[in-house]
Amino acid sequence: MARPAGHVAYIALGANLGPREKNIAAALNALEHTRGITVERVSNLYETEAVGGPPGQPAYVNAAARLRVTLTPERLLAVLQQIETSLGRERRERWAPRTIDLDILFFDDRVMSDDNLSIPHPLMHERRFVLEPLAEIAPNVRHPTLGLTPRELLDSFGELSFD
Ligand code: AMP
Repeated sequence: MARPAGHVAYIALGANLGPREKNIAAALNALEHTRGITVERVSNLYETEAVGGPPGQPAYVNAAARLRVTLTPERLLAVLQQIETSLGRERRERWAPRTIDLDILFFDDRVMSDDNLSIPHPLMHERRFVLEPLAEIAPNVRHPTLGLTPRELLDSFGELSFD
């Protein structure tokens, strides 16, 4: 059988405001209805305390998804930002908790960095709330520069320095 066309992108989804699970579901639904994107796999939802930001922020619900895309990374980022805007429009203030946050983690094994887009996501290997859902759906995928799987990155927390 022919290999499916396109690229494989892994994204992180997070929400800590409003109906958090619904916001994640709405973002996935919007992705499924976007031309050039197929949602192939979605992790379970993980609830985690907010890291940083104002004290007393509500906890996040996080998930990861594997997408098959025929878009460029830049176009995919634009789609994610459009979905963030459409779901967060009501009252998105600076520094405020997030209705929805969508990040590109991996795009095939591409490594790139410019003003608007860095792939792999530069903070992903430090974030348990990103790595845990990712380990569930991408157990064998290796970070293209660090060479470790999500589980290995979790296991090496506090031991490795990536400077
Ligand atoms: P945030 O406030 O976390 O939503 O950050 C969004 C900003 O991060 C945007 O200005 C993006 O251009 C930038 N960015 C850089 N790399 C990535 C990535 N891999 N995924 C999503 N946003 C990214």
